[in-house]
Amino acid sequence: MNTEGLHSLFLEKRSISTDSRKIEENTIFFALKGENFNGNTFARQALEKGASYAVIDEAEYKTSDRILLVDDVLTALQQLANFHRKHLGIPILSLTGSNGKTTTKELINSVLSRKFKTTATLGNLNNHIGVPLTLLSMDKTTEFGIVEMGANHQKEIEFLCGIAEPNYGCITNFGKAHLEGFGGVEGVIRGKSELYDHLINENGFVFYNNDDPIQSEKLKDISRKFGFDHRGQADVHISLLSADPFVKLEVRDEIIESHLIGSYNYNNIALAVCIGTYFDIPLPEIKAAIESYTPQNNRSQIINKNSNKIILDAYNANPSSMNAALENFSGLSGTKKTALLGDMFELGSSAAEEHQKIAEMAEKLENTEVFLVGVNFFDTNTSLRKFKSYEELRDFMKDRVPDNSTILIKGSRGMALERILDIL
Ligand code: ATP
Ligand code: MG
Repeated sequence: MNTEGLHSLFLEKRSISTDSRKIEENTIFFALKGENFNGNTFARQALEKGASYAVIDEAEYKTSDRILLVDDVLTALQQLANFHRKHLGIPILSLTGSNGKTTTKELINSVLSRKFKTTATLGNLNNHIGVPLTLLSMDKTTEFGIVEMGANHQKEIEFLCGIAEPNYGCITNFGKAHLEGFGGVEGVIRGKSELYDHLINENGFVFYNNDDPIQSEKLKDISRKFGFDHRGQADVHISLLSADPFVKLEVRDEIIESHLIGSYNYNNIALAVCIGTYFDIPLPEIKAAIESYTPQNNRSQIINKNSNKIILDAYNANPSSMNAALENFSGLSGTKKTALLGDMFELGSSAAEEHQKIAEMAEKLENTEVFLVGVNFFDTNTSLRKFKSYEELRDFMKDRVPDNSTILIKGSRGMALERILDIL
């Protein structure tokens, strides 16, 4: 079965599934392979559960006319998505960056949906499977697509751009995330900039943060761009008024009071404001769109529990976002503070050095009791209290739960530090 053929079936059915456990009627099941499973073996079952077709790549499983054989299922999915993207011909904005992609994507979606019928990446579906599924979730009613792109190695963004063919794009920031796969910070900058390279080659348009010297330098000879900064030297002038705890911004004579905490969210909000401004969305509408957004899934959420105010930022962590979180935390009012910091993953050979730097930064926090948790933090040279595992931290804290305290909880996803909420 070729891409065009698959696309006509897709236009009839309009629904794709890659999970044989969640088959709905009338879907096309794509039998992807994972580390521990071979989707081909579920093709038959998917049809029995109501799928209209199953796409496979191992001939021995072709036991029905409704089972369609291709060379490679993943490639077929990606090619179908690209074919569909071309078929729709709509404007697509892609965003990548080390931190804040999903938050910024949601904010941009909130703003752009004031003017366009948008379709955006669902949740965090931002990889070589998520991007195709996002494109395939768009239909002829979609006027504007917003596609989050994640990457942890070189050429990944270039590859995703080949599928999504964005006409607009932005990079949230260049930070110390996935250092292992990218090969250091220079590698991160090169890898993420593949989005700029694509846009520049394809006559696309870039939104950017003029306060970020890397972005302004990279884009200095480019005319198709629109940017913001807090100095009044870019297209849109956006000031950060305060972040205690919620980020408050000023744009022209409008004050925007977000529900996002952390001064680092200035960048994320500002990008969305910048993009909304470019598309002529009236400022009061942009303001309402930003103010209506509240973060989900342990991303910089505020929880008031017993007498404590908890900043739950346990969704992920890397040196840049940890740095930003600590900087923000040190600026919060409150005389009694507690910081629970978990290991940062995927740092490769920089792990020891980066954990040491964070421990030293944490030592300087005023009025703050700090608990470090994880094998990497345990190996740091520090006077702070440290624990090898989450369980040891929990057992220690059980009888010493802070009260009337502002508590920051941050660590990599694998640390799942939100578990500590149960005892707080
Ligand atoms: P992922 O790589 O999982 O897709 P993401 O880039 O989509 O992550 P978000 O999910 O938006 O990022 O945010 C995750 C966390 O990153 C937030 O809870 C916050 O701690 C931190 N963060 C968000 N924006 C920034 C920023 N501009 N600078 C530094 N840290 C940030
Ligand atoms: Mg994300």
